[in-house]
Amino acid sequence: MKKKIVTIVGARPQFIKAAALSRTIAAYYSDDIQEYIIHTGQHYDPEMSDVFFEELNIPKPHFQLEHQESWTDGENEERILAIIKILREVKPDFVIVYGDTHSTLAGAMAASREKIPLVHVEAGLRSFNNNMPEEYNRVKTDQLAQILFVPTETAIHNLEKEGIFTKNDSTDLINQKWIINCGDIMYDNTLYYNEILESQTDILQELGIKKDHYILVTVHRNFNTDQPEPLQSIFEALLKIAQEIPVVLPLHPRTIKNMDQFFDDPFINKIEKCKNLILLEPLSFLDMAALEKNSRMIITDSGGVQKEAYFYQKPSILLRDETEWTEIVTTKTAILAGYNTEKILKAYHQLNQAVPKQYPPIFGDGTAAFMILDFLLSKD
Ligand code: UDP
Repeated sequence: MKKKIVTIVGARPQFIKAAALSRTIAAYYSDDIQEYIIHTGQHYDPEMSDVFFEELNIPKPHFQLEHQESWTDGENEERILAIIKILREVKPDFVIVYGDTHSTLAGAMAASREKIPLVHVEAGLRSFNNNMPEEYNRVKTDQLAQILFVPTETAIHNLEKEGIFTKNDSTDLINQKWIINCGDIMYDNTLYYNEILESQTDILQELGIKKDHYILVTVHRNFNTDQPEPLQSIFEALLKIAQEIPVVLPLHPRTIKNMDQFFDDPFINKIEKCKNLILLEPLSFLDMAALEKNSRMIITDSGGVQKEAYFYQKPSILLRDETEWTEIVTTKTAILAGYNTEKILKAYHQLNQAVPKQYPPIFGDGTAAFMILDFLLSKD
């Protein structure tokens, strides 16, 4: 009998992570594993959702929950009940959730209430910043999960500090706890698509930019975009950098909304007049990956993009005061700059003058999906 897995996704980074697992199931495990995908409807606009399913060949979700305007709480009862209803119908052997969004926690709560073994991919990450909604979602999900796939050694130490260890003295999986370092599942994607990237997109040509001669930027975290000061301060820095080199910025819907709300007309004018500041709609994964791979440097507050910068061996400036991926900073390939204009510019000049060269392998070997699936198949 095939093992049944329910994968719960809802936000852009989860579609991308889940793509690696779905692809590996389709290619190597289809005789042994049947995957059912639940889309929670958290991200729903075509460029934040459909494009990834199409481009990354993710099976169409078997179950689609309705989008709700307020996605402020992973403990939203209505959503958890909707997921539970599906779990009762499918009766999976495992529920898999990714990362740290409200969809992650809603899925974790549903699986936990139904006593279905919960698998958390990207477990153990901590920012130690409780202002981030993501931190709450991670901590809770790790408490509920039976099988925790961590991407780094630091994540194992974080879990141990919270008293979470591998514990397999029960014969019943639901009473066990497994911590397994499988490396970063996003690295699976980077290695896989690296081979075919250039043949699939000509985004550099479309934008009129040249390899190594532009800076790629993303900004969408609540603490950078939900108030005028940080957002304006970041844009002040980007405008200055754009005097030297093109700056390419695919905008998250939340950032677009808040720019419209916070920036006055003279500032919007200044941005619009700056030809070297190239503002874009959210990009598809392959366009984004091509831009990352060919950039000179990346400036970001995204978890995924800071890792991809590392995978492509690009220096990065993190628009944050701390990161869950401490290794990137320890290796001095990234600098934490927060949102302060001067700090961002200082980091920019520093990384331009002493370009980091060493990117030790800290995120595994790009075979996370195989490790995850082999492990799940080994459990009765
Ligand atoms: N990404 C994308 N298009 C974009 C911006 C980002 O495909 O316009 C990808 C990026 O390459 C990475 C993922 O989205 O794989 C990161 O997601 P996001 O920054 O939304 O969330 P986070 O990783 O911070 O949770």
